[in-house]
Amino acid sequence: MTTDVIIVGAGPAGAATAILLAEHGLSVRLVDRARFPRPKICGEYLSPEAPRLLDRLGALKAVDAVASPLTGMRITAPDGTTLVGTYRPIGAWRPYREHAMALPRETLDAILVDRVRSLPVDFSEQVRVTDVIVSGGRVLGVEAVDGDHRRLTIRAPLTIAADGRASVIARRLGLRRPHRLQRMALVTYVEDIGDAGRFGEIFVDPPDYAILNPVAPGRANLSVVVPMAHAAPWSGRLDAFFDARVRQLRHLARRVAGGRRVAAIRAMGPLAYRVDAPRTGGVLLVGDAAGFFDPFTGEGIFNGLRSAELAAETAVRALGRGDVSAQTLAGYERARRLAFADKERVTRALQVVIAHRPLANLTARLLARRQRLLDLLLGVLGDFVPPRALVTDVFAR
Ligand SMILES: Cc1cc2nc3c(=O)[nH]c(=O)nc-3n(C[C@H](O)[C@H](O)[C@H](O)COP(=O)(O)OP(=O)(O)OC[C@H]3O[C@@H](n4cnc5c(N)ncnc54)[C@H](O)[C@@H]3O)c2cc1C
Repeated sequence: MTTDVIIVGAGPAGAATAILLAEHGLSVRLVDRARFPRPKICGEYLSPEAPRLLDRLGALKAVDAVASPLTGMRITAPDGTTLVGTYRPIGAWRPYREHAMALPRETLDAILVDRVRSLPVDFSEQVRVTDVIVSGGRVLGVEAVDGDHRRLTIRAPLTIAADGRASVIARRLGLRRPHRLQRMALVTYVEDIGDAGRFGEIFVDPPDYAILNPVAPGRANLSVVVPMAHAAPWSGRLDAFFDARVRQLRHLARRVAGGRRVAAIRAMGPLAYRVDAPRTGGVLLVGDAAGFFDPFTGEGIFNGLRSAELAAETAVRALGRGDVSAQTLAGYERARRLAFADKERVTRALQVVIAHRPLANLTARLLARRQRLLDLLLGVLGDFVPPRALVTDVFAR
């Protein structure tokens, strides 16, 4: 049987793309260098619109059975001003579920891979892609090595790069560029910190911020994001650096006092990087392989799933016409821009706010007096309110 599409990477973006293409009757070859379940550094928050996509993928029931629902977010500014926003319907905008979700990535990703396994997808674990085959301005497939160190050449009219932030495909095609935002995340789990109700908690304290996400009863994911330059001298002593940094974040320190860290610190940085759109035909990039900014607004998984949806639409059309030229596949880039560009502007504006103490305090005090605006902002970050609604609301008074 010939392969229509090779998908490299079976994280949320790759698994979702495989499910959607298999459901369209295409012959899909999916490979991942890992064996599932596999760990993934993440804040483990799922935006309230992610369930819409998980439902479409046939994975929502399994996710619902294990995820902790989050009614909203509690945000603490540097001066202690606390904002509590909920994921509620606002005017015409309704979230698919009136809550976000917290669940371990190992579990989420394993659920999606299980769904892949229930479909006629040729899925191989422990196959590491090492290179892309490019000829005549077209990607023709990939070179890989399997678990027994055997070299493989896999060819198909279309290759989909879903190989995450380390994407070999983006690098080999010369698309990856550094970002000037140089931050690092330190991630662990804490227990016995007292119940915050069904809320995710964010502590903004420039130049750092931290997120507490209750992934299971009595257990929370704690992610602390710091400037790379501050963490670099501590690379051999990350535990000590993490503990010192938590003490420095006063409001977080008070919140987790009496709790205990129950996992090693895992670090990742720099967090942000850019990826250009491919100029070659025969290839699409989804999820983190197509770029990443910052985990503050927690949309990475949603964006991965949504980009899979958009890529699948373009792939089905292009393969149906037998035309996988760069020109035809550029429709996907346009659709991505349309889907994500407005929110990216909000995300970038928020980065300016959280990087400056007086501005962060001022914004928090303003939002504390405007609950509707706060809920709208949470709706934008939760992917169910269009960003332009914020502009309309700000100027409505
Ligand atoms: C610190 C941090 C916190 C975050 N917190 C959140 C959060 O709370 N909520 C949220 O929505 N997003 C969060 N994100 C972002 C989120 O983790 C990513 O956006 C998401 O994992 C992207 O999914 P993906 O499928 O594109 O990539 P991945 O999940 O990284 O999957 C890529 C897959 O490709 C495989 N692969 C890689 N290279 C190869 C190769 N050469 N050959 C074969 N297979 C390969 C890997 O094994 C992996 O399974 C966070 C990110 C960071 C860094």
